[in-house]
Amino acid sequence: MIIDLRSDTVTKPSKGMLDAMITAEVGDDVYKEDLSVNALEKRLADMFGMDEALFFPTGSMANQAALKLHTNPGEQVICDKYAHIYNYEGGGASFNSGISCKLVDGNRGMFTAAQAEESINPPDFYHSPLTSLIAIENTTNKGGGACWDFEELKKIRTVADVHNLGYHLDGARLWNAFIAKNENPKQYGELFDTISVCLSKGLGCPMGSVLIGNKDKMKGALRVRKILGGGMRQIGFAAAAGLYALDNHFNRLAEDHKKAKEIGEVLANLTTVKKVEPIETNIVIFELNDTMSETQFLNKLDEKNIKIIGMGSNKLRMVTHLDYTDQMHNKLLESLKSL
Ligand SMILES: *Cc1c(COP(=O)(O)O)cnc(C)c1O
Repeated sequence: MIIDLRSDTVTKPSKGMLDAMITAEVGDDVYKEDLSVNALEKRLADMFGMDEALFFPTGSMANQAALKLHTNPGEQVICDKYAHIYNYEGGGASFNSGISCKLVDGNRGMFTAAQAEESINPPDFYHSPLTSLIAIENTTNKGGGACWDFEELKKIRTVADVHNLGYHLDGARLWNAFIAKNENPKQYGELFDTISVCLSKGLGCPMGSVLIGNKDKMKGALRVRKILGGGMRQIGFAAAAGLYALDNHFNRLAEDHKKAKEIGEVLANLTTVKKVEPIETNIVIFELNDTMSETQFLNKLDEKNIKIIGMGSNKLRMVTHLDYTDQMHNKLLESLKSL
């Protein structure tokens, strides 16, 4: 038995999901003739109370398309220093959109409305890049699955309105925030111009993300997706997995959160662990003290067929997910205690 907690992307499609995929009605989605893709897009647009949704192969591509839709070359997006769009999309912001990122020094990937406002370059000061977009991430990936305070998100909306900026949400793990904070998609749909959500993280699909937005902002979305190479043909097989996941894998995220908290409690009592970051959802980030190196810790777990990820600077990460069973959980907790 291998216990793989490197990411919530390591899950494999369940039997039910595979059945849904095999029996999906498909067509050529570049001609918008794939019934399963159309159904998924409509379902998500309705769920968030927004006009349109568009299926993408990856979350990175959905985010990159959003950046392109909100900006012109030379402009600037405000995001946290931990942001996925800045750290983990291969430099796509500059490559695809020709924009730079103004990094906010936030807390666990989150910043305040005041920090957002301070980061805006005065539009008549032509020496600096024109600020055109604020992008936030919920839950935060590098921030350890932290959830934003919705009131702060509303204040940032006001800042965006006052300064005529777009407002994008990277919601790769927004599903986890809904469960952890008892929030709903409509309140986010009212607040943001565009929202990307991943089907391939906590929801357990083999692929797929969706960009959701209102008509004005989504006008060029089909063309941008085509330019990025994301126009796919009979991709309803993947969209059907998404529909299945929304029905069957959403509410169970609470279980991942519970297991993550239990892991955190055990870690906090280990003499080798200096600090466990607050656990709100399915990501556990912890720091070792000087008694054991990152590599030693990883090797010890590896001997027990447990895989986790090192983040550098003596920090390590575990992510709970759909394929992490109760049996694995018990074995993990015992293994940690006996380290
Ligand atoms: C995983 C992730 C994405 C998208 O990643 P892909 O691997 O391209 O699907 C975007 N934002 C965040 C915060 C993520 O965690």
